[in-house]
Amino acid sequence: MNNILPSSKGIRFKCQGSSNCCVSRGSYGYVYLSLNDIKRFAKYFKISIDNFIKKYCSNQDGYYHLIEKNKNGNCIFLKNKQCTVYKARPVQCRTWPFWKENLNAKRWNNEIINFCPGIGKGKLYSNKEINKIANKDSKNEKLILKTTNKS
Ligand code: SF4
Repeated sequence: MNNILPSSKGIRFKCQGSSNCCVSRGSYGYVYLSLNDIKRFAKYFKISIDNFIKKYCSNQDGYYHLIEKNKNGNCIFLKNKQCTVYKARPVQCRTWPFWKENLNAKRWNNEIINFCPGIGKGKLYSNKEINKIANKDSKNEKLILKTTNKS
């Protein structure tokens, strides 16, 4: 991967509970789900995969994503700025903000830093750790693309 990171030493990040990344907005859109995410949720709620999809998912061009609660775009599982399903949250949520598409200086400095108050705080992630997370997110994207109601 050819990342252009803002610092050669890595990046500090600690979630500050702003919930910005839990609200669908512009390019930080839906929380898409792979079959693994859906299975994890179904187990968490002790319901079948089909029931989880019926109750909590919508789809965009055939790809599943979590329903949004209102016109503001709040994730259905966001309550009082807290994730109510933290242990079962999807990979897309676990890998934020170290998504491959975020890891270039232009986007990072112009958008991500302003969008997420957790950047620059807390644990210092080494570039190696960041790349590992970004790779996990890339793999997850491929799984999301395989999880479609078209097949
Ligand atoms: S599942 Fe949790 S962490 Fe992910 S967007 Fe919804 S509220 Fe936020």
